Amino acid sequence: MRILLLEDEPEMASVLKTALERRHVIVDHVSTIADAEAAAAFGPYDALVLDRRLPDGEGLDLIPKLRASRVDAPILMLTALGGLGDRVAGLDGGADDYLAKPFAVEELMARLRALQRRPATLRSERIVVGRLTYDFHHREAMVDERPLELLRREQLALEALIRRPGRAVLRSTLEESVYAMDDEIGSNALDSHLSRLRRKLDEVDAGVEIRAIRNLGYLLRAVT
Ligand code: CA
Repeated sequence: MRILLLEDEPEMASVLKTALERRHVIVDHVSTIADAEAAAAFGPYDALVLDRRLPDGEGLDLIPKLRASRVDAPILMLTALGGLGDRVAGLDGGADDYLAKPFAVEELMARLRALQRRPATLRSERIVVGRLTYDFHHREAMVDERPLELLRREQLALEALIRRPGRAVLRSTLEESVYAMDDEIGSNALDSHLSRLRRKLDEVDAGVEIRAIRNLGYLLRAVT
């Protein structure tokens, strides 16, 4: 998982970054709204963790700007303003979650994981790319209404990719989607699941391609 952390208090930022990195989260840290806006546009992030009181303004005001520029990563507000009114304002302001300081890193981690389980596109149960349809409710891939036989890990990889058609999905995100925490992951295991998935999609002429993006991950997109 890779997150953008907007936090202006150096000590808080450093403690948090260390604690998250120990839990295998990649943290890009910025301290101003302006830097956060620039970094978020550059992305891709699995989540944005934003403070509210910042030297150049209110973190909440950044949310509509991010959404307008099509940054659709889930947003968690992290702040000392933890009163009921503040939490309501945060959620109404477009945040996906709100955590008041002080908090335990374990709770932040759990909330970040929960946010990964409900990507925006899951609100629609079916996603169509090329001739491929994925039905999240029945957890089934179809090409021209014919079910595609996939092994469990091929299916999990496809779910992670098709939620973000045309956009790179980080290798770490794919690994988190495909493997359980305690699975041993061979260095080429993910690539072999993806190459089998790619072959199965090609065999039925699904009208999509899975592209490897060097040092980053993979993306799935329609072939035109
Ligand atoms: Ca602050």
